[in-house]
Amino acid sequence: MQNIKDLFLDQESPAGRLVRAMAALGAATAGQLVKSTGIGRSTVSTLLSELRDAEIVIDVEVKSTGFGRPSQLLSLNPASGRCAGVLLGLGEIRIVICDLTHAVLSDVWLPIHRDYTPEEAADQIRDTLTRQCAALGQSIPDLLGVGLAISAPLSYDGKVMNGDVLPTWGGVDLAEIFSTRIDCPLHAENESHCGALAEMTWGAAIGEKDFVLYKFDLGVGGAIVRDGVVQRGFNGSAAEFGHIVLEPNGSLCRCGNRGCLTTFVGSYHLMKHAEEFSGHPVTIDQFIERAREGRLGYRRLIEDAAEKAGWGMGMTATILNPPLFIIVGKLATVGDAFVERLKSSFERHTLPPPDSGQHPRPRFVIGKFLANDDTVMGAVALVLHQHGRIAGHASGRLRGRSAA
Ligand SMILES: [Zn+2]
Repeated sequence: MQNIKDLFLDQESPAGRLVRAMAALGAATAGQLVKSTGIGRSTVSTLLSELRDAEIVIDVEVKSTGFGRPSQLLSLNPASGRCAGVLLGLGEIRIVICDLTHAVLSDVWLPIHRDYTPEEAADQIRDTLTRQCAALGQSIPDLLGVGLAISAPLSYDGKVMNGDVLPTWGGVDLAEIFSTRIDCPLHAENESHCGALAEMTWGAAIGEKDFVLYKFDLGVGGAIVRDGVVQRGFNGSAAEFGHIVLEPNGSLCRCGNRGCLTTFVGSYHLMKHAEEFSGHPVTIDQFIERAREGRLGYRRLIEDAAEKAGWGMGMTATILNPPLFIIVGKLATVGDAFVERLKSSFERHTLPPPDSGQHPRPRFVIGKFLANDDTVMGAVALVLHQHGRIAGHASGRLRGRSAA
């Protein structure tokens, strides 16, 4: 039996597929692993026995469904491997290390000046991650991978497609800069796609294979998940829902177009309008509190935003017909004034159900990650789900399109 790292990186063998499915699921029954991997039941049973003998897989608890014989839940041995996620934020970097049962072992925030360069970030991440790993009795090459989450679309080989949020990062080759400093497999994705992976691993999308995620925060982001895989599109910028154009002559968006969804719903827009009528600066938390209290002006702004959000989601549903929408981001915490208004607008802006018969409508679920924890946890999940791989290690970079 190979060691866990070789198995985890082995794209072909049934044992490698089984280990990666267990990493993505956290804990699972043999039946769930058969369904998830498509490997035959008897092969799964033999492999699990071998993995148990190698202490890579452990029995965790017995799951009772209330009918028949209870099922044994299995997980990867938490001591057998660890992975890290990094949020490259505005004025801060956050690094989380998790084990293969999805437990958080280390969580560090680093303040950094707002115009930090990719090289400065990579140096700080290397130094901090080295200390975090040492505290856990490991070093960086022992990690199964490090995931990087960034506020910009990324190409398949790890190039930052634009630098709207981190202006000096446009066109930067993350693989080039990080693989010479961090000696383990590297993964990278934009933060909304990371958010979908966080919901699939810890949140409202556990067990869901097909859904669309909308994140309403400073801007509007999103993700499309089909058959358990976050869709990246031709150049990595799939599901940029914030740039659906609703008003061709509307306000100028940071993307250079006019009237994008984010110019109506993004928190920047809402805070700007709140400041205009209140006469003083308003933070997003103050805005949300006042909208929740139903204060005039704030409530009207949030209802107008929900109207436009439902319009954008209705267009998305007309194209993709997803069974589930997951809504995350701070605006989702406003409550019914936002969510119920959004749903009624959605119904007006998507294909109506036929008059006769039972036609299920998509479900709307509020996600688990309503602050910004989704980004760093999703960066960890990039490794768990083997999504967005941009580099192997310093001596063996990968190139070309990743598997997912
Ligand atoms: Zn735009």
